[in-house]
Amino acid sequence: MSNKNTNAKNWKPSTLAIHGNGRLPKAHHAVSTPIMHTSNYYFDTADEVEDFMRAKGQGKVIREHEYARYGNPTQIETERKLAAIEGAERAVLYSSGMAAVLLAIMTFMKPGGHIIFTSDCYRQTRDFAINFLGKFGMDNSIVDPTAEAIEKAIKPNTNIIFTESPTNPYLRVLDIPAIVKVAKAKKVLTIIDATLATPYNIKPIEMGVDVVIHSATKYLGGHNDLMAGVCLGSNALMTDLYKMQRMMGATPGPLTCFLLERGLKTFGMRMEHHNKAGLAVAQMLEAHPKIEKVWYPALKSHPDHKLGMEQMKGFGSVISFLVKGGNKETRQFIDALELFLITPSLGGSESLVTQMWAMSFFDYSEEYRKNIGMVDNLVRLALGLEDVDDLIFDLKQALDKI
Ligand SMILES: *Cc1c(COP(=O)(O)O)cnc(C)c1O
Repeated sequence: MSNKNTNAKNWKPSTLAIHGNGRLPKAHHAVSTPIMHTSNYYFDTADEVEDFMRAKGQGKVIREHEYARYGNPTQIETERKLAAIEGAERAVLYSSGMAAVLLAIMTFMKPGGHIIFTSDCYRQTRDFAINFLGKFGMDNSIVDPTAEAIEKAIKPNTNIIFTESPTNPYLRVLDIPAIVKVAKAKKVLTIIDATLATPYNIKPIEMGVDVVIHSATKYLGGHNDLMAGVCLGSNALMTDLYKMQRMMGATPGPLTCFLLERGLKTFGMRMEHHNKAGLAVAQMLEAHPKIEKVWYPALKSHPDHKLGMEQMKGFGSVISFLVKGGNKETRQFIDALELFLITPSLGGSESLVTQMWAMSFFDYSEEYRKNIGMVDNLVRLALGLEDVDDLIFDLKQALDKI
C-alpha cells in the first residue's frame, strides 16, 4: 500500500481535514473509514496474545485494536486528521468536550497544586473549578481574561493555566504568546480551550501552548448532530491523557467518530462561510438602531480588536449583543426570529439563538449573574450555514417586531 504523503507538510487545513497527513491503508479499500461496531477484537492464536502484550509493554504497536474502550478504527483515523489540522503530534478524542476538559485537568493536576481559570469561561468548566477541584486538594483562582491578570495570579504552587480564547459569550481574545512566556518561565502547563476559534482561525500549538482542547460538538463536527471532544499536543502529554481517557471510558463511539470525520471533510469551507457570515451580521447589528452594543472581535469597538486581528484568521459565527430595552424587548425579538432555533451550542448548520442568563445561568442568583455580565438583554447568536442574506433579513424583521 503506497503512502503518498511527501507534500503533506504544505497542505492547508481543508486538505488535511480530508486526507490527514497522507494515505493510510483502509479495510476493503473503502474510501470512507468503515464503522466497526464491535466491543472487542479477536486474536487468531493464543501465542498472538502474548506477542501483542509483550510488544505493547515495549511501546510497539503490532496490531491496532483489542477492546473498544481503548479505541476504534474511526476514532484513530479522526484523531490522525485532527492532529494534522491542528499541527499537533497527537490527538486524543473523547465522548464530549467536557470529558476532554475535565480529564485534561484531572490528568495534570497535583494534590496541593493551584489552577488559574479565566472568568469568562464555559459554565461547566467554571462549576468544576468552584465545586469539585477542592475535593482533590486543588486550589484555584478565577481571574479576568487577560495575560496580566493571569500573571498576577500565579502562585508558587500553580501548575496549570487553563484559558479559553476567544471566550464565551464576550469573545475576549487572550494574548496567548504573553501567557505562554509567563507560564514557561514558571514551569506551568498551559491548556487552552479553543473551541470558538477552531484550528482554522488560530494555532495555539505554534504559539507554544501545551494542550489545546476543542468541543468537537461545535465547529469540528459542524452539523448539530454529535457530541465529542478532543485534546491535542505532544506525544508525551497525549500518552498521559490517553491512559486516563481509556481508563475512564470517555471513549467516543464508532458512529460518533464517523460523523465527526465526515464533518471534517467540509471543515475548511464551513469555517470560511462562518467567518464571512459572522462579520456581515456583526456589522449589520452594530449599525442597527435597536441594538445597544455588539461583541465581535473583528469590530473596532471590541476590547480585543487589535489583538484578535494579529492573532486570528477570522472570528467564526458567534456574536453577542445587547438588545435596547430589557427582558421583555429581548424576548419579543427572540420569539419573532424564524430561522434561529432557541437552543444552546454553536458551530452547526442550523442558526441558534440564546438569551444567555435564562439558558445557561438561570440557577445562579441575580447578583452573581450581573457580576459575570449575564444581563437580561444579552443575546448570543451562533450562525449556521444558511445564506447570510436570509439570516440578516430574519434578524432585521425580528428587531422590527420589538
Ligand atoms: C460546548 C463547549 C464545551 C463543552 O463541550 P461539550 O461537547 O458540550 O461537552 C467546552 N468549552 C467550550 C468553549 C464550549 O463551547
